[in-house]
Amino acid sequence: MIKLDEEGTLLVGGQENNMEFEELMEQKYSERFRKPRVSWDEYFMKIAEIVSERTTCLRLRGGAVVVKDKRIIATGYNGSARGLPHCSQVGCLKDHLELKGIPRGTGHESCRAIHAEENAILQCALHGISSDGATMYATVSPCLACAKSIINAGIKRVVYRSDYDDDAAFALFKEAGVGIEKLEE
Ligand SMILES: [Zn+2]
Ligand SMILES: [Zn+2]
Repeated sequence: MIKLDEEGTLLVGGQENNMEFEELMEQKYSERFRKPRVSWDEYFMKIAEIVSERTTCLRLRGGAVVVKDKRIIATGYNGSARGLPHCSQVGCLKDHLELKGIPRGTGHESCRAIHAEENAILQCALHGISSDGATMYATVSPCLACAKSIINAGIKRVVYRSDYDDDAAFALFKEAGVGIEKLEE
């Protein structure tokens, strides 16, 4: 137990202690002091990663967080439209197509899930919150369809963690003046 007496002398376990208060605190919390404080980008990305854990599509896990003035205004993950069964319940349509010989990487619009980025933007619409000038944190770099929605939602900066490999989306962001940055772990 640590406390100070009336004169401000440090008492540890009821005994006076010569150790400087800061020194003692540093020793006590050294583990925490050694760990650097996370940046705002890392803070919101970590939250997007937690959000992605709600994903219901079996094939693509994704989470997105929309931030304005360091405040989260919306979140989204890969999942079906409200009230409809999830890929995790009825299978992903893309798997069904693949079984029929339609190659992987084509027809991603056939999955019933709405991508995390679009779900986050839709959440802004649903609740009447403006996404104009906001930053989006996405665990995976946006696909072309999401990129178009992001641009029209007025989002000005996109920070992502891992690559989805959609060069067209990157080109579109550049053209529209939307910043896109990869945040390395
Ligand atoms: Zn799916
Ligand atoms: Zn997408």
